[in-house]
Amino acid sequence: MKSIVSKALFCSLVLVLLNVSALAQQQIFPSITYRLSMSRPVSHLFEVSIEVELPADFKGEAVSFQMPKWSPGRYAVFDFAKNVQEVRAMSGICPPKAQCKMAPRAVTRVDDQTWSVAAQGSSSLTFAYKVFGNDLSGTFSQLDDRHANYNGGSIFMYVVDHKPDPVKLIIDPPAGWKIVNGRTDHVGQTAWQFTNWDIMIDTPTEIAPDWTMDTFDVDGKEYHVVVHSFGPEGGKRPGLVKSIEKIVRAETGLWGPPEFNEYTFLIHFAADDQSGDGMEHLTSTQIIESGALGDAGMDDSALDTVAHEFFHVWNVKRLRPFELGPWDFTKPVSTRGLFIAEGFTNYYGHLMLRRAGLWDDTKFLRRESRTISGIENAPGTRLMTAEESSLSAPFLDDAPHAQKTNLENTAISYYPKGELIAMVLDLLVRGRTGGKHSLDDVMREMYDEFYLKSSNNSYYLHGRGYQPEDLQRVASKVAGVDFEDYFNRHIRNTETLPYDEAFGYVGLRVTRTTLKEPYNAGMSVDFDSPEGPLIGSVKNNSPAEQAGLQSGDEVVSLDSRKINKDSWLNTLARYKHGQSVPITVKRNRRTIKTTMVLNEPERFEYKIEERADATAQQKALRAKWLNGS
Ligand SMILES: [Zn+2]
Repeated sequence: MKSIVSKALFCSLVLVLLNVSALAQQQIFPSITYRLSMSRPVSHLFEVSIEVELPADFKGEAVSFQMPKWSPGRYAVFDFAKNVQEVRAMSGICPPKAQCKMAPRAVTRVDDQTWSVAAQGSSSLTFAYKVFGNDLSGTFSQLDDRHANYNGGSIFMYVVDHKPDPVKLIIDPPAGWKIVNGRTDHVGQTAWQFTNWDIMIDTPTEIAPDWTMDTFDVDGKEYHVVVHSFGPEGGKRPGLVKSIEKIVRAETGLWGPPEFNEYTFLIHFAADDQSGDGMEHLTSTQIIESGALGDAGMDDSALDTVAHEFFHVWNVKRLRPFELGPWDFTKPVSTRGLFIAEGFTNYYGHLMLRRAGLWDDTKFLRRESRTISGIENAPGTRLMTAEESSLSAPFLDDAPHAQKTNLENTAISYYPKGELIAMVLDLLVRGRTGGKHSLDDVMREMYDEFYLKSSNNSYYLHGRGYQPEDLQRVASKVAGVDFEDYFNRHIRNTETLPYDEAFGYVGLRVTRTTLKEPYNAGMSVDFDSPEGPLIGSVKNNSPAEQAGLQSGDEVVSLDSRKINKDSWLNTLARYKHGQSVPITVKRNRRTIKTTMVLNEPERFEYKIEERADATAQQKALRAKWLNGS
């Protein structure tokens, strides 16, 4: 493949930072073919085989296969290799126009994610395994009697040092099941060619007898809405498709027509115990909703996710932080840019629902008010910067924690934090340029510079990645105002965002009121636990912590009374701050009696509200912001 040789190698700095496996590659294998079958859906076992044709002058002693430790879009490490079983290999000679002579070969487990097969003297090698998958999500895979839904990173190993090679995929579905993904040309398609392994795993695929597809056109591009419903739809599908079209029109209105010809929204409406999820891809998105389409609010929830994931077509999939592709799948990725990639996408997802006419001003501003309240009340807000939060993604992004952590007191999510950074920056650009420019212009300029007009710096995809400093430079250039101070104080540091200046430009203000509870105990209590009321999180330096209470303690009594959810609140409400309230808990079969000295209330509600003195000019600027111009 031509694009494998990087044009950026003249720069020694870039050379050092480039993916090592891309550089280590000596020769492209003549062909790499993946075969996926699923002969026993109830077993949840995907059957994968990788057929590698070796070059005649192959000098290597072995070929290694590696399961990624994580997959793009979710940054926690899951170690997909844990679900691999029954690995085996064959190798041999395939004379031209004759039957291959293949024999079983020993497979060596090299480490927690790598298997190796001796290949000396062979012209062909097949490595096969089964991989267990029974999770419907944006990251894992599921095979059961209803369908197969896979995210390639969790089932396909790559050939070590040959990730950049072109790959072919052939799927053998159960009888009567149809295959669909964001790169399907026609019904009944069972084979695909991908420019490299990274692109193959960027193509989540649904295989089932009963999904539906609706199609619409915007700017000559075809959009497919594939829905797999596990529960009743209540006649809501046509409305859902119409609303998705409005979102597509609003977002392509900002960015211009996308570069692809077809795009697929792959949406599951579950009916059983299922958590929701959404994952962005180059020509598709995979969305899982927690209930049936016919359930109240489920269509709105799906549209919220659609607006976010479709914005990723540009922001993160193509306009991407430097570290996001190609990747080293042997260790977690670290980037400072997720507050832009995810946080800015969160902001625009909501703004686009407003611009698409699916939300009104009130709903949009209420949603952003909630985000401000969430961030400003979180103790981590003053401890972790937006860049640090991005770098901590492997711990924060749905990461499993076997060990107890204090993240609730120390961490902040780059999603809401980045959302507020984007909104305030947008308003500052609009305000400081008198409405001539906006964050929309900044994003378009970034896309132009780093994707459309940039030469490739890797085999993976067109364009090159950016650093947060690039956004600061481009924002300053577009606005004609230096944003170094903004980036230093609110992105590289934890200072409160300049809400007054930002919202003032559009005749709004952020108000702060004390929440109703007159007390502050500084802990949460889980009243639904079967063991009784259990203390959940305990804030640092809180009355609960001072009283020696711990997460996991069972609350026996408060003020000498047994408690439930209502009596807990009512009892605390009788005390004023500074007063002591007796509390008894059970911990490790011990009964502990202590007293909490309640603090000043410290939870506040923030609201974005109309300023009484808003001028016509400010209101006009607000209309431009919300309507998009
Ligand atoms: Zn996202």
